[in-house]
Amino acid sequence: MKHRIQLLPEKLCNQIAAGEVVERPSSVVKELVENSLDAGATEVRVEVEKGGRSLIRIVDNGSGMGREDAFLSLERHATSKIRTDEDLFAIRTLGFRGEALPSIAAVSRLTLRTREEDSLEGSEIYLEGGTVRRADAIGMPRGTTIEVRNLFFNLPARRKFLRREETELGHIGDVVTKMALARPDVQFKLSHNGRVLLDVYRHDSLRQRALALLGKTLASDLVAVEGDGQDLKVTGLVSQPSSTRSTTSAMFAFVNGRYVRDRVIQHAILDGYRNLLLKGRYPVVVLFIEMDPQLVDVNVHPTKHEVRFREQSLVHDFIAATVRDALRPAAWLKEEPRPEIGRDARAPWEDASRPISSPLPPGLPLPAPSSAPRFEAREVADPFGSPSAPALSLPEKNICRDSSAGFFSSLILIGQFGHSYLLCQEGDDLILIDQHAAHERIGFERLKSQLRQGKIERQALLFPDVLEFDFRQAALVQEHLDDLQRLGFEMEPFGGNSFVLKAVPQLLHKADPVALLRDVAGELAQIGQSDMLEEALDQVLILMACHTMVRANQKLSLPQMQALLNDMDTVDFKGHCPHGRPVMQRLSRGEIEKMFKRT
Ligand code: ADP
Ligand code: MG
Repeated sequence: MKHRIQLLPEKLCNQIAAGEVVERPSSVVKELVENSLDAGATEVRVEVEKGGRSLIRIVDNGSGMGREDAFLSLERHATSKIRTDEDLFAIRTLGFRGEALPSIAAVSRLTLRTREEDSLEGSEIYLEGGTVRRADAIGMPRGTTIEVRNLFFNLPARRKFLRREETELGHIGDVVTKMALARPDVQFKLSHNGRVLLDVYRHDSLRQRALALLGKTLASDLVAVEGDGQDLKVTGLVSQPSSTRSTTSAMFAFVNGRYVRDRVIQHAILDGYRNLLLKGRYPVVVLFIEMDPQLVDVNVHPTKHEVRFREQSLVHDFIAATVRDALRPAAWLKEEPRPEIGRDARAPWEDASRPISSPLPPGLPLPAPSSAPRFEAREVADPFGSPSAPALSLPEKNICRDSSAGFFSSLILIGQFGHSYLLCQEGDDLILIDQHAAHERIGFERLKSQLRQGKIERQALLFPDVLEFDFRQAALVQEHLDDLQRLGFEMEPFGGNSFVLKAVPQLLHKADPVALLRDVAGELAQIGQSDMLEEALDQVLILMACHTMVRANQKLSLPQMQALLNDMDTVDFKGHCPHGRPVMQRLSRGEIEKMFKRT
C-alpha cells in the first residue's frame, strides 16, 4: 500500500520556514544584518528600493565565506554557529538556526557575493526561488554582499500583504535603528531609493550613538544606568521622567545583544519609574541585559524576538531596582512625588492588554495623540505674534478703548472673570467672551485664510529641531511631507524615524512642535481616506489652532485682553470657536434687571 505520509521536498520546507522567518522586507533586513554582525563586520550598509519590495542589499566587511561555505550557507539548517546541543544553551551569536538564508532565497531572487580574507577570489551565487541558477568566481573586497530582489515574487498572496512603501520602510528603519543602538561600535548606513536616511559612524559610547539616532535634545535627557548583579548585568540609558513619549516605541531592550520585546523587561522598567510618569506616558530607554546564556532561552520564537528567563522575577526585580537607582539622585525626585498614575499598578507583566514596544500592525489606527497636558499655563503675552498687540507697558487708559476699530475692539473692557472669561460692556449689554474659544477661532481663521492664499506663513527655527516619531507616525509624516509643507512645516527626513524641523507655521511658533506634529500626522492619516480634502484640512487647522491657544484658566493682563479683542476684529468671525462652542454671550440690561427682580 502506498504511504500517505511523505517527507516534504526541501524547497517546500524552505518556503514554509520563510513563512515564519520572512514576514516582510524588514525581516529580511534583520536576518541579514544579524548575519553581518555575527561575521564580525564593522561596517554594514543597507540599501533598499521601493520599501524593500524591489531590492534589499546588505553589504558588510565581515569575515566573508569560502566557496563551499557560500553554497552550504544556502542549505537548510546549515550554520557555523552551533554544533552540539550544548551549544544551543550557550548561544553568543545572533543567529543559530541556519534558516535565514535558505528561507529568504526561497521567496526571492537572491544574489550572494562573498570573499574571505585569504581567498584570491570571491564567489557569486544567484538563486531564483531557492534554485541555484548561476555561480561564478568574482573579484571583490573582503566581506559579503547579499541582494534580495522581488521579495515574494513567487508567492503572490504574500506579496499582496506588503504595505505601502513608506510603511515597509518604517519597519526597516525600525530594525536598523535597533541594531545600531545595540552596536555603537559598528558603522551603519541605510539608504532608500538612493537617498541616505541614516548614516552613523563608529561611536565610542552608547550615549553618542543614542544621540545620533534619537536626536540631540533627547539624548541630553538620558541618564546612565548600571547594575552589576551576580548572574546579571544591566547597563544603558534611560530618560528623565520629564522626557517621555506617548507610546512604548522608544523603549529598547537587548538581552545578550539581541533586541527583544519582552513583557517582563518592560514591566520592570516601568516599575523603576513608578510614581514618576504621567498616565499614558512612556520613557525612552536603551537597556542592555547581559546574563549567562544558560539562564535565558532565546529559542522560543523563529524570529527570536522573545526570550524566556529561567529566573523571571529575579531578572524583573533587578532591572526595576537598577532603573530606580539611576533615577534616584536626580533633582526631580526631590519634588513632591506624584500619586501613582505612571502605570497600572495591578497589571502584572503577564497582562496581555499591556502595550508592547512593537510597531502597530499595518492598518491599525494611530495611537491616540498624546494625552499629556500639552498646554501648560505659560505666560503668553501675544499668542499670535500679532503686530497689533499692544506692548505690556502701555498705560491702561489708552488701551481700553479704540473707537476707530471694529465691534470687539470697541467694547468697554471690564476685566477677566475666573481667569477664563472677558467681561465687556457694549451699550447697555454685558458681553461675556470665552477667551479660549476666541483664541481658537482667531488662530483657525488666520490659518485658513493663509492656506487659502496658498501657503501658511512660516517661521524658521533658529535651531532646527530633530523630532523623533514612532514608526507609524514617521511613515505618515514621510508620506505627507508636501501637505505639511503647505501647512507651514518645513521638515526633512533625518534617518530612521527622525525628521529635522526647520520651520513652523508662524502662528504656532510657541506651540510644542512634537506634540503638534504628532496630532497633525494623525489627522493627515484620515485625509488619506477622505475625498473631502478641504473638510479634512479644516480639521487639521482646528487642531493646529488648538495648539496655539491660550487656555481657559489663564490670567490675562489688561493689555493682553485688549489685544485679544483687537485680534477678534481681524478675522472673519462666526461667533463660535471652530469646535462649535460659542465664543460670546450677551446679557442685556433687561435680563440682568430681571434677575434682580427690578422690572
Ligand atoms: P544562522 O545565522 O542561523 O547560522 P543563516 O541562514 O542566517 O543561519 O546563515 C547560515 C550561515 O551562513 C551562517 O551560520 C554563517 O556561517 C554564514 N553567513 C551568513 N551570512 C554571512 C555573512 N554576511 N558573512 C559571513 N558568513 C555568513
Ligand atoms: Mg542568520
